[in-house]
Amino acid sequence: MNREKLTPMMQQYLAVKDENPDSILFFRLGDFYEMFFDDALLASRELEITLTRRDAGLEEKAPMCGVPYHVASSYISKLIDKGYKVAICDQVEDPKLAKGIVKREVTQIITPGTFTDTEYLKSDLNNYLLSIYIQGYSLNLTYSDYSTGEIYFTNKTFLSKTELFRFLQDQVDRISPNEILINEDALATFKKEIKKNNVFLNPYIAENLKDSNIIKDFGNYFSDNFKNNLRDFLSDNKIVDYTSLKKILQYLVVTQKINLKHINNISYYNNYDFLLLDESSKRTLEVVKGLNTFTKKGSLLDVLDKCSTSMGSRKLKKWVESPLVDLNKIEERQNIIESFTRDLLLQDKIEKILREVYDIERLVVKISNGSINPRELYSLKSTIENANKIKAILEGQDNKYLKLLSKEFIDLSDVYDEIDKVLIENPPVVIEENRIIKEGYSLELDELFKIATEGKNWLLDFEEKERNRTGIKKLKVKHNKILGYFIEVTKSFLDQVPEDYIRKQTLVGSERFFSMELKDMEGKLLGSKERALSMQAEIYNNLKDFIGKEIYRIQILADKLSKLDSLLSLAKVSNLNNYVRPKFNNEGYIEIKAGRHPIVESYMKDDFFVPNDTYIDTKSNMIHIITGPNMAGKSTYMRQVALITIMAHIGCFVPCDSCNISLIDRIFTRIGASDNLAMGQSTFMVEMQEVADIIQNASSKSLLILDEVGRGTSTFDGLAIANAIIEYIAENIKAKTLFATHYHELVHLEDKYDSVENLTIAVDRQEDDIIFLRKIIKGFTNNSYGIDVAKLAGIDDRIINRAKDVLALIEKENEGLNIDLNKEYIREEKTSPEVENFMNKLRQINILEISPMEAFNLLDEIVKKSKELI
Ligand code: ADP
Repeated sequence: MNREKLTPMMQQYLAVKDENPDSILFFRLGDFYEMFFDDALLASRELEITLTRRDAGLEEKAPMCGVPYHVASSYISKLIDKGYKVAICDQVEDPKLAKGIVKREVTQIITPGTFTDTEYLKSDLNNYLLSIYIQGYSLNLTYSDYSTGEIYFTNKTFLSKTELFRFLQDQVDRISPNEILINEDALATFKKEIKKNNVFLNPYIAENLKDSNIIKDFGNYFSDNFKNNLRDFLSDNKIVDYTSLKKILQYLVVTQKINLKHINNISYYNNYDFLLLDESSKRTLEVVKGLNTFTKKGSLLDVLDKCSTSMGSRKLKKWVESPLVDLNKIEERQNIIESFTRDLLLQDKIEKILREVYDIERLVVKISNGSINPRELYSLKSTIENANKIKAILEGQDNKYLKLLSKEFIDLSDVYDEIDKVLIENPPVVIEENRIIKEGYSLELDELFKIATEGKNWLLDFEEKERNRTGIKKLKVKHNKILGYFIEVTKSFLDQVPEDYIRKQTLVGSERFFSMELKDMEGKLLGSKERALSMQAEIYNNLKDFIGKEIYRIQILADKLSKLDSLLSLAKVSNLNNYVRPKFNNEGYIEIKAGRHPIVESYMKDDFFVPNDTYIDTKSNMIHIITGPNMAGKSTYMRQVALITIMAHIGCFVPCDSCNISLIDRIFTRIGASDNLAMGQSTFMVEMQEVADIIQNASSKSLLILDEVGRGTSTFDGLAIANAIIEYIAENIKAKTLFATHYHELVHLEDKYDSVENLTIAVDRQEDDIIFLRKIIKGFTNNSYGIDVAKLAGIDDRIINRAKDVLALIEKENEGLNIDLNKEYIREEKTSPEVENFMNKLRQINILEISPMEAFNLLDEIVKKSKELI
């Protein structure tokens, strides 16, 4: 393209576009945002809007499309949703005053991870921007919800690339960011792992940031509060490298171009503060997402979330994803929940007030950038009022935990008073010509508005007076933006127009005039209205400034309100579903009487869920091998134990008659065939990777849920692996384990280990039919009833009968698989001296001390050597 030939405006357009190559540029022209060239082609397709062309000075017209500026946000949200960035380029000088073309600048870059439009954001989900910095095996990671101002940071050094990769993948899954910032080298290595759906990837060059001082560079953008908190944060946690945090802050400054007053706090998060649940376990246990729905529906969170506010729902999601391991914190929640469960009226009273509470957590960004409207400020006021009501109710309770909770609600009456003093009741969303300032707040403003309203009456009187004077019945006094006030007379009455009318404009059917009297009044009217509006705007701005200084305290209130909402929700659910408060013990056992599966029971309408007991410890009831037919309820039972354990660690009550539990450090699950085919891995491979992870990371304080491990391969392979895994757990890990299997041969392990117990699910067999009793009992079954289940499923009788024959034949020929797995097999070791030498060399290397490069070379050598020897 020959740029010199372009019109000056298109040159301006391209100059701005050059600076924002990865965004779709919304270029303000009059009442439209226009897009040109490639952006126009892309946007017209994605937004389904008409593509037109505009003369750009070139031979061929430039592709163009546009959206009206006042509805731009709905189009922007669509593009953001599809994973694009949008740069807003506005006119930054008054077109009337501009010499040549109007000056235009990008005023904001809206990106998937910084999008704040509450009309389009999902209210119960956070919108996270994630920043990753990886060097060697060290990682630091920051994520932030710009709409609420939350920032979280963590850092870690790993022993291997695999470990780092797993951690990273887990974090990306958990945070599910809409946008990622990542250093270029890391992106090259991990692109496949972090690229999910529409996530927008921004590679960055870390070198420019590493030695920069973010506070010095962008000091003006941050509140003093944040600067102090950041300083303390870095020294308290002994953080040296925080490149990912620097990048996120820099990115927010560069894209948002405003003061980030609502960013105040930064939290360090550490996996050890929580019961660890890797993403695959979270998925299979349906903690926050249903397996079939991929949404909240069908999940534990769905059962527990009866929050009245979106702030509460977002908080509860964080709690459910990160169960606690600190008993004091767990009991603090339990105490409050228990207090609420005892008083349904109190629950009701507070819930009613909470329903009136506004999402003030997401208002803070609007206070920060000054875009908050009068209606929203008014909602802030009513929310403070409601918080005070709640505080008073809690204070008045005869319960020490609720009294204590009431103290957390900080006093924001200064903010309330200020809004109350300034704003009228129920102000409109848009200010424009509406009055939003209370009468009596400023006498001067009242006077100006009075003239403006009185002027209206004066005009009506004037019209009446002129009609009488001239005898023109249809004479009208009108107003428009171009002419101002004028008198309109239709053509047929023109001969009655008095001499003192001065002609202003001639239309087809009428003439427009003014008189000196009207002109005089116009001067007063317009002047006072203009002044009234600008004065009103000034007062409103002062109010926003005042509130802007209190953002931090507003955030604290938002946090307390959402905490209360979550606790109340858990109390409500406990009452509704008959949950009980779990006790905690130090002896390492889990005892559940009549436990139920919280999700399955919530879906059962007419049928009753059959409760089951659980006793599992670190001694003679450590590993439970569960056999039983398909569909009997093995998976449900195992998940139920895991979910009750998770719920207890959240501080929430649990679905059973009684529960006594010891603190768990991690829950691992390997359930069913969680196909990872989309990622190009076979089911069996994934299964084995998950098992490898469990073996490496589980401790005696972990809970392992293993369902049909070994099923993905041939019978003998699978049985061998399953057997070896159980032995390893029994001898080395000593973790509480539930192991469901169809390999009946495994039940022999009960004889070999004191810690192993066999369980089965009772079925009643009546002639040709089986009835599932859903009851867990001691013992085992040596029948999978596979053919019975196939029959139940409706498979043709001819096939069923043939299958029975084949089975009988197999059993007769092999007499089952009667192997004694407890027998020792003596392996013949065949190691050549050459291999032995090489192994010795390996043993001398200290893995912790070698550099990544040396490690790679070593790996290379091992591979070569193995090839040589084979
Ligand atoms: P398995 O793992 O043994 O194949 P599942 O745990 O998948 O069996 O259970 C099959 C179905 O049986 C579940 O979908 C559920 O509807 C029902 N079920 C399981 N356990 C119970 C129970 N305790 N009470 C009532 N229904 C149950």
